[in-house]
Amino acid sequence: MQKTDEMPMTEQLERLKELQDVLAEKYELEAKVEELPKSLDGSTESLDRYKKEYIQKNAEYEEKKAQVAQLKEELEEAQKKREEGEKGMDAISTHREYEILQKQIDEAQSIEDEKRKELQKEEKSLEELNDILKGHEAFISSTEKDVNEQRENLDKEVSDLNKRLEALTKKENEKSEGINPEIIMKFQRIIRRNTKGIVAVAGNVCDGCHMVLPAQFANEVRHNDQIRFCPYCSRILFYDESIVSKVYSLQSDELVEDTDEDLIDGDGFGDEIDDMGDGDSPDTSSMDFEN
Ligand SMILES: [Zn+2]
Repeated sequence: MQKTDEMPMTEQLERLKELQDVLAEKYELEAKVEELPKSLDGSTESLDRYKKEYIQKNAEYEEKKAQVAQLKEELEEAQKKREEGEKGMDAISTHREYEILQKQIDEAQSIEDEKRKELQKEEKSLEELNDILKGHEAFISSTEKDVNEQRENLDKEVSDLNKRLEALTKKENEKSEGINPEIIMKFQRIIRRNTKGIVAVAGNVCDGCHMVLPAQFANEVRHNDQIRFCPYCSRILFYDESIVSKVYSLQSDELVEDTDEDLIDGDGFGDEIDDMGDGDSPDTSSMDFEN
């Protein structure tokens, strides 16, 4: 780092001022790059919730479907039993046989009726579940489409920001060259916290935190011969004659105004004399009272 010694301090301070703008912009963009993906969190969370609900409903549907298949089997079995019983009627010879068979047929018939009724009910509820699932599917796919679109836009935005960040980092390296890396690191830390990292000293006051600096220290800053940090806010300080003379000229303007006001006074008599001409002064009334 031979260049450190070679670069005049005034130039280093100028570089730091330029670097300040580059860094402030860079950190702002970095924060954006970090924040942007979070804007998708809400939609992604809802989508995950819908998917979970769908899985749950789908399990319900599958269960119902198995139940319906089971009922159909049971219905068929009862039906078969009844039909067998009816066929058997042709072959019976005694009343006793008839009674037993009729009882069997009646029982099968009753089971058949019961299962048919139950099946109808369960098939209807299966159909309803199916409709709900279809609704869920449509909603999920449209939400998914939205989220993907948002993600695409976001990725593009982030990649644009990253391109700008790359350019800024290049600029940062250019501006940092020739300045003590330790000072650069300190400077970066300040800017991350405060945006401004290098400020002027006006009179004895730090323009960053507006604290009055020790007179001896402020005096040293005026030499602009080395990099000095404000003891209160840690910002780098520089002395700029034009800023100081601006402050002085402001102060002298105020002085001139004050003088002008003193000069403008109507008749040349003091205000106190004019006031005495006013009618009801407290003094007059007290005199009346005494008389
Ligand atoms: Zn300060």
